[in-house]
Amino acid sequence: MNSADRETLWQQLRQHPVRWDVLIVGGGITGAGVLRECTRRGLKALLVEQQDFAWGTSSKSSKMVHGGLRYLASGQFGLTRDSVRERQRLLEEAPGLVDPLQFLMGHYKGQFPPGFIFNRVLDVYDLMAGHRNHRRFPAREVSFLAPGLLENGLKSLTQFGDAVTDDARLVLRVLQEARSEGGCALNYVKAENVLKGGSEGRVRGLTLQDTLSGDRVEVEARVVINATGAWADQLRGQMGLAGQIRPLRGSHLVLPQWRFPVSYSVSYFHPRDKRPVFVFPWEGTTVIGTTDLDHDQDMQSDARITAEEVNYLLEGIRHAFPSWRITREDVLCTWSGIRPVVGTGSLDPSKEKREHSIWDDQGLITVAGGKLTTFRLIAMDVLQAASIYLEGQGHTVADSRIFKAGRVAIKPDCGVAVDQQKRWWGRYGEVTPQLIAGGSPAARRIGDSLVCWGELDYALQHEAVCHLDDLLLRRTRLGQLLPQGAKDYLPEIGLRCQRILGWNDAQLRTEIDRYQAIYARDFSLPPLAQPAAGALS
Ligand SMILES: Cc1cc2nc3c(=O)[nH]c(=O)nc-3n(C[C@H](O)[C@H](O)[C@H](O)COP(=O)(O)OP(=O)(O)OC[C@H]3O[C@@H](n4cnc5c(N)ncnc54)[C@H](O)[C@@H]3O)c2cc1C
Repeated sequence: MNSADRETLWQQLRQHPVRWDVLIVGGGITGAGVLRECTRRGLKALLVEQQDFAWGTSSKSSKMVHGGLRYLASGQFGLTRDSVRERQRLLEEAPGLVDPLQFLMGHYKGQFPPGFIFNRVLDVYDLMAGHRNHRRFPAREVSFLAPGLLENGLKSLTQFGDAVTDDARLVLRVLQEARSEGGCALNYVKAENVLKGGSEGRVRGLTLQDTLSGDRVEVEARVVINATGAWADQLRGQMGLAGQIRPLRGSHLVLPQWRFPVSYSVSYFHPRDKRPVFVFPWEGTTVIGTTDLDHDQDMQSDARITAEEVNYLLEGIRHAFPSWRITREDVLCTWSGIRPVVGTGSLDPSKEKREHSIWDDQGLITVAGGKLTTFRLIAMDVLQAASIYLEGQGHTVADSRIFKAGRVAIKPDCGVAVDQQKRWWGRYGEVTPQLIAGGSPAARRIGDSLVCWGELDYALQHEAVCHLDDLLLRRTRLGQLLPQGAKDYLPEIGLRCQRILGWNDAQLRTEIDRYQAIYARDFSLPPLAQPAAGALS
């Protein structure tokens, strides 16, 4: 879908009102997953996102597709088994988008869990996945596995397998799959008001606003799904319902890989509060994450890291990898996401449970919490809850493939490297041959990133890019992967925006200013702060 298709769909909503089966609010992974499951069941479904697709938490997570070892450690076997199975499913269905990532954990003298206990837990973890994928190493191997990792007190190391993705591209691929089966999705459309007054005072639809034009329309549906994550209380509040969400911010620092190369995702305990934190390789960079603290910033713009969080993450990495002497000067960029956690009032944010919850309030079904990894299961639970409004059509169906066109067909001698083709198959599914047809010019990489010019052009042509930040922060990640938000490449990127989207010089200038303001405010280092006195979690 391009921006013209977006306009056509909006006009259809205005001029030819129909009653939808399902109206989904929120274009993150939860909303996208629900749309995908609706199309599988033959339901007529529309998704609206107030900003850009994946603008919320689903472009700012830690990108792990994982079984959740912490659930296992707390005895939640069912949840871990489900997550492990979903991880395996995604690895099989979308290689190139969801890829294996090896983790490494050092076991230090006097620290829990010791290596032998951790390995017993991993025996169970791997049993759930159906194959063994962990190994214990003596401490002397550290210089091969994770050069620079603190050796003082190190007794052994454990390597184990999970997976990693690009969360925003995962959302886009799920949306693409849903659209190919008749699902509809609009970015920059906000659900403003809940319309009540259906039979028995039920919710009958929503007032939607196109935030680009200011136009409004009333849309009716048999059931409305509130998949707005950390924003879920806003629509529920209109029903007079009490807030449930405790928004918790998690922030990351991104470093150039040449400055601090890691081949594993290395977990370690922060010296200040003993929370697990980690450093991992992602898209040719090295990422350090993450914090976990109450989010009290304005929710209408991107979340941003604070100076105290920067200090905290740097303190942690300097403790775990002292010889690398990482400082704030090494940081390429930052990002912060908001966990849509259902609050229980726990004093320690990290003790709040991370599972999803579902509420049905007279036909407004709200879902919040959970993880990227289990989005398909969450969507199935949502539709199960919605099935009373859908005469049973929400029930689970036998066919369960998320990505139907996920077959990787590598073309030899086409000017595109094999690993590039695989990456495209994962990210673009059945339209990949279109990208491959662009040959070596399409496969030319942009700077040191793994992103190619063909991907950027494809996004401009087919992926409903409305603003420059959609292109640089979510369709591609150039803003996070290249120095100064890809500043050196803006002239060439701008020309392509003008050619493909028809922006004139004034529009382009406005878009560059908007993007650079967002980048400076929400994806850069904040000004220096005094060293923090208290713990951060
Ligand atoms: C720091 C951090 C690290 C994480 N790491 C991992 C990880 O490694 N692995 C993992 O599996 N999970 C991880 N998670 C959890 C995971 O990212 C989230 O559970 C998931 O992204 C939530 O998706 P969502 O669709 O529910 O919410 P979101 O992605 O936030 O989507 C909700 C959307 O609703 C939109 N919206 C709000 N109000 C309206 C309205 N009125 N009208 C229209 N649209 C509206 C918002 O703009 C937003 O885009 C992490 C989370 C955080 C914060």
